[in-house]
Amino acid sequence: MVSALEQYDPQIYELVRQESARESAVIRLIPSENYVSRAVMQASGSCLTNKYAEGYPNKRYYEGQQVTDLIERLAQERAKKIFKADHANVQPYSGSVANLAAYAALIEPGDMIMGMSLTDGGHLTHGWNVSLSSKFYKSVSYPVNPETGRLDYDHIADMAKKHKPKIIISGATAYPREIDFEKFGQIAKDIGAYHVSDIAHIAGLVVAGIHQSPIPYADIVSSTTHKTLRGARGGMLLCKAEHADQVDRAVFPGLQGGPHMHTLTAIAVALAEADTPEFVAYARQIVKNSKALAWKLMEYGFKLMSGGTDNHLILVDLRNKKVGGKKVAKALDRARIVCNYNTIPGDTAPPANPSGLRMGTPAITTRGMKEPEVEQIAGFINRVIDNINNESVIGEVGKEVLLLCSQFPVPGHFIIPNKDNLAALLASGPMTPWLF
Ligand SMILES: *Cc1c(COP(=O)(O)O)cnc(C)c1O
Repeated sequence: MVSALEQYDPQIYELVRQESARESAVIRLIPSENYVSRAVMQASGSCLTNKYAEGYPNKRYYEGQQVTDLIERLAQERAKKIFKADHANVQPYSGSVANLAAYAALIEPGDMIMGMSLTDGGHLTHGWNVSLSSKFYKSVSYPVNPETGRLDYDHIADMAKKHKPKIIISGATAYPREIDFEKFGQIAKDIGAYHVSDIAHIAGLVVAGIHQSPIPYADIVSSTTHKTLRGARGGMLLCKAEHADQVDRAVFPGLQGGPHMHTLTAIAVALAEADTPEFVAYARQIVKNSKALAWKLMEYGFKLMSGGTDNHLILVDLRNKKVGGKKVAKALDRARIVCNYNTIPGDTAPPANPSGLRMGTPAITTRGMKEPEVEQIAGFINRVIDNINNESVIGEVGKEVLLLCSQFPVPGHFIIPNKDNLAALLASGPMTPWLF
C-alpha cells in the first residue's frame, strides 16, 4: 500500500522513513527525548490540526467548537487528576512559552526573577542572559555547590534575601538529584516571592510518585509534555485556583493565539496513558536504569556530578578522561549512541566544547531495556571513550549497538533493524547505519 505522503512527496516521505529508522537503530540517551505511543502519534496526526480554537472551552472566538471543547476539557481534567492540581492550562506551545506565561501571570516586566544558572543545570528561560526571560525581567541566577554538585538551599535563601526577586524558579534541565520543592516554597514565602516550579524533565516521575511533587509548594507549576511524561511535544501549566484566571489570560491572549488542537489532543491521550499502573512501573524502571548506568560508568572510572543520580539522568564529568564533551558526543553518535555534551558546574571549558556529557534513560526504558542492557550500554560507552581515536573500534561498537537495538523494536516505527535486514545493515559501512 502506498501512503498519501509517499505518493505526494516522496522526498519528505523518504526523510521521515529515515528518521524513523534512525530512532529505531540507535540508543537514544538524550534525557529530554522519548518515544510516544502509536495512539499519541495517531492523535497528533489527526484532523484536529485543521481547527482554530482561540479561547477556552465555552469561551471561544470562533464557532464550530462542539468537539474541541470536549477534547480540551478532557485534557484539563486528566492533567488535574494525575498532578492533583486545582487548575490546568494545556495550551502552551512548549515548555518555554509556558514559563514565560507563568511569569507574565504573576509579575510585571522589569521585576526580578531568580532561577538556576544555565551552566549549572537550569533552563534558558529561567532568566539566562541570551533568553528574552532576562530582557523582560531582571534576573539573577543561583549556582549549585561546585564541590557537591548539589543545590545549596541555605545559599539560595541567602541570595533570595539579598536580591529580593519577585519569583523564585525551581526546576532544572540537567540536575541528577531530587529537588526539594518544599524548601524552595519556604524560601520564596520567607521573602514574599512567588514560587514557580518547572518540572519539564521530571513530570513523569512526579506523576508516578517517584519524585516529590511541587504542586503543594508552588504558585504555578510549569511543564513540558514530551519528556518523561511521554506525550506529544508541548507545554502545560498547573496552579492553585486563585491563579487560574491570571494563568489562562497569560497564555491566551497574553502570549499565544489558537492552541495547536492536534497536539492538545495527543497530550490528552498521553495523560490517560500516564494514569496507569504500567506508567508507574515505567517511571520506576527509568530511575533503576539511570542508577544502573551511573554505577556501571563509575565502575569504569567515570566521575559523575554529585556522585550519582536520583532521577532519569546523569551528568558525566569527563575531565579525568582528558577529552572534551563534544568529541566524545560525536564519537558516540558514530557508534549509534546519541547523547549531548553539556556544561558541568564550575566548568572552565567553553560551552561549545564543555567538559560534561548528559545522558538519560527515558527513551531506552520505553523500548523495554532494563539493567542488563543498560550495563551493556555503559560498556559500549566506555569502549568508545577508551578508543576515541580508533574508528574501527567505534564501528565495531556501532554494530553491537545495532544488534541490541534489533532485540528492542520501537512501536510505531519502521522496524529497523529486524531479522530480515540486520545482516545487510551490519555489512554496510559505519557511517550509513540506517540506510538500506
Ligand atoms: C525542556 C525544558 C524547557 C523547554 O521546553 P521546550 O518545549 O523545549 O520549550 C523548559 N524548562 C525546562 C527545565 C526544560 O528542561
